[in-house]
Amino acid sequence: MTVERSGNSKVDSRFGPLPSYPTGQRIDATVNPDKLVKTHCCFCGQQCGIQLKVNGNEVVGFEPWEEFPFNRGMLCPKGIRRYLQGSHPDRLTQALYQDPSHPEGFRPMNYHEAIGKVASEIHRIQEKHGPNAFAVLGGASMTTEKCYLLGKFARVCLKTRFIDYNGRLCMVAAAGGNKKAFGIDRAANPTSDIPLAEVVWVGGANIAECAPVTTSYIWQARENGAKIIHVDPRITPLARTCDLILPIKPGRDAAFYAGVLHLMIENDWLDHSFIENHTVGFEAVAQSVKEWTPEKTARVTGIKESLIRQAAELWGQAKTSFLIHARGMEQHGHGVLNVLSAINIVLASGRLGRPGCGYATLTGQGNGQGGREHGQKADQVPGILKTPSTETSSPPSGASPKRKCPTLASIVTKFSARWKKAKSRVCSPGLLTPWSPCPTTSSSRGCCKSWTSLSALIFS
Ligand code: SF4
Repeated sequence: MTVERSGNSKVDSRFGPLPSYPTGQRIDATVNPDKLVKTHCCFCGQQCGIQLKVNGNEVVGFEPWEEFPFNRGMLCPKGIRRYLQGSHPDRLTQALYQDPSHPEGFRPMNYHEAIGKVASEIHRIQEKHGPNAFAVLGGASMTTEKCYLLGKFARVCLKTRFIDYNGRLCMVAAAGGNKKAFGIDRAANPTSDIPLAEVVWVGGANIAECAPVTTSYIWQARENGAKIIHVDPRITPLARTCDLILPIKPGRDAAFYAGVLHLMIENDWLDHSFIENHTVGFEAVAQSVKEWTPEKTARVTGIKESLIRQAAELWGQAKTSFLIHARGMEQHGHGVLNVLSAINIVLASGRLGRPGCGYATLTGQGNGQGGREHGQKADQVPGILKTPSTETSSPPSGASPKRKCPTLASIVTKFSARWKKAKSRVCSPGLLTPWSPCPTTSSSRGCCKSWTSLSALIFS
């Protein structure tokens, strides 16, 4: 049971009361549980291990899961309240159907009836407007199995060409950059390498607030003597404790990393053997960053020239290092280019894939990887396989999708062969990418535009 929040009547009359204070029944977290269930905190991409105390069918508390390798029993303030979600009084536990005659505007409906209603409405709308009248938007908080099923539901059941997931904005630029650079969208190192690094470089990531437990890895590195470099327009909590803050103008990351690489080349802070044996395109990159002198980089990025030189020197002379970035530099029209430019300074240093030497993009949601690899992404079918460019039926009237979508038949025939090939694929050498303007998200903008003409949108 909940009580209505008394307070600002103006706010209440506009938005309704806020029933956020549970009263009466309280969870007694001190009782001995029937069982402990090992699971994960679902509030961010770190997926800390947790043990839920379960009594009957109710979650009544939690215990640390100290053996879980990532968080070893630690939780952040969000995680320690995670167990309260299941029995929160605001939680929806039944289907609701909009009914203006009902005093609350919605009337409860049993699931059997609700599923029948949804199915009949899908049928009615598709009969009139065709399969592409529907779009499906998924998310990376679902399990891999659910992501797979959602893709099947959209492509096989609804037969719509419009499916995508929240990662289209979230970290798709990171995934795209990783695939271009490494041939695969995967982290090269475990987080346990962070404390071993001499320099930890954080770009566009508010780690302390968005991935809190990872902060402890960076603090461990600092306790071991590491220098922490933070590139961000904001003074985040982590920035307050780092060694070098580089307050960059938003969106200028590619120029900044080109400037750092310029100094690395000028001072020969390079791993020539790594570049020779594990990368391609270095000469073209070196040529493209020639113009990114410290003066020009400072002018474009807003970062003082002396700070750029300090950052390049710390990074260039380190023996071990770890570079981490996140949405701050990824969510731009040229996000892939920003990512590739950051990867360039990692590849040029040769510090990758060995103890204390790594590179990572922070995942935003619990199943970012599974979410984008198993059929929810507009341009991929399960198994990280690209959709082929084949025409299907016309788009809904008024829509003008820029992207060609596959038919089911083409997926089945083409991908069985490609899957076999993909399974035996090895990671391609690191690709160093020259600095140049690159409108990386034009296809997603076209896709979003076409969605505005849909008859229905299904969120999952
Ligand atoms: S760091 Fe993320 S996964 Fe871990 S407890 Fe906090 S919110 Fe949950």
